[in-house]
Amino acid sequence: GGQEKDRTMTDTPRISFEFFPPKTPAGREKLYKTRETLQEFQPAFFSVTYGAGGTTRETTSNIVTGLRRDGISIAPHLSFGGDDEETVLGLLNSYREAGVDRIVALRGDMPSGMGTVAQLVYANELVAFIRRHTGEHFHLEVAAYPEIHPEAESYDDDIRYLKGKFEAGANSALTQYFYNPDAYFYFLDQCEKAGIDAPIYPGIMPITNFANLARFSRNCGAEIPRWLKKRMESFSNPDDIRKLGLEVVTDLCETLLAGGAPGLHFYTMNQVEPTAEILRALEIETGA
Ligand code: FAD
Repeated sequence: GGQEKDRTMTDTPRISFEFFPPKTPAGREKLYKTRETLQEFQPAFFSVTYGAGGTTRETTSNIVTGLRRDGISIAPHLSFGGDDEETVLGLLNSYREAGVDRIVALRGDMPSGMGTVAQLVYANELVAFIRRHTGEHFHLEVAAYPEIHPEAESYDDDIRYLKGKFEAGANSALTQYFYNPDAYFYFLDQCEKAGIDAPIYPGIMPITNFANLARFSRNCGAEIPRWLKKRMESFSNPDDIRKLGLEVVTDLCETLLAGGAPGLHFYTMNQVEPTAEILRALEIETGA
C-alpha cells in the first residue's frame, strides 16, 4: 500500500446474483423463492450458469425463461463448448424472444469425462459472434481474473486477452472470486494502464462449507489466505465457520466498495442466507 488513490465509495453499488440451473422441478420452485427473497436488494440482474458442452442447455434455458416470467432481468451465461454456431444462435434468439438483454459470455470449461470435443472457443470470439449476429441488443459481461486465469501464459497476456474481449464488444466484466482485495485493486490498475476503461465487478463467494471451498478453489486458481485456511481448519463447528466466513467476506466487500469497486456480483450457490447476511451487514443503499 502507501500509494494514495483517488477512489471514493460508489453511491449505489450495482448488485447482481449468480445461480446455477436446478436439475429438478422442486429445485426450480425453490430457486423462484430464493430469487424473490434476494429481490429485496434490488439487484441489476440475476445470472444463470451454463455447462459448457451443452450439459445444461435445457435446464439453463428453462430456468431463464421461468425467471423472466416475472419481468426481472436475467443474464444467461453462454459458451460455445463444442456446440456449432447454429445451436448458439438458436439460444441467442430464444433468449432475445424471452426478453433477455444481457449475456455472460464465456469460453467455459469442459466438464471432466466428456471425452474429446471440439477445441474450446475463446470468449472474445463468442463476444464477436454475438455482436455480429445480434448487434447491440445484449449487454455483454465477460469473466476477469484478478489472481490470473490458471491457464494464462502470463499476467500481461491475461490482461491483453481481457482487453481483447472488450475490443470485441463486451461492456463489463465479472471477476472470479478472491479473498485478497489487493489482488483486485492491483488488477484494476493494470487494466487501466492497458487501456481498459469498462467496469470490472468483483465476484464474491460467501463462505459456508470451507472444505468444499478449499477443494474448488485449487481448480479455479483462487487463493485462500493461509491465515484464513488455518483458522477455518481449526473449527469443528459449522457455525464457527459460517460466523468467521460472514465476518471476513463482509469486511472484504466493505474494503472493495470503499476502494472504488463499482458493485458486487455474488456467487449465491442458490442459497439466500449466506449472501443476504453479508448484504444486511453491509447496510448499503443498493439500486440497479
Ligand atoms: P477466455 O477469456 O477465453 O480465457 C481462457 C484462457 O485463454 C485464459 O487463460 C486466457 O488468458 C486465454 N485466452 C483468452 N483469449 C485468448 C485468445 N484469443 N487466444 C489465446 N488465449 C486466450 N464456466 C462454465 O463452464 N459455465 C459458467 O456458467 C461459468 N460462469 C462463470 C462466471 C464468471 C463470472 C467467471 C469468472 C467464470 C465462469 N466460468 C464458467 C468459468 C470459466 O468458464 C473458466 O474460468 C474458463 O476456463 C475461462 O473462461 P473465460 O471466458 O474467462 O475464457
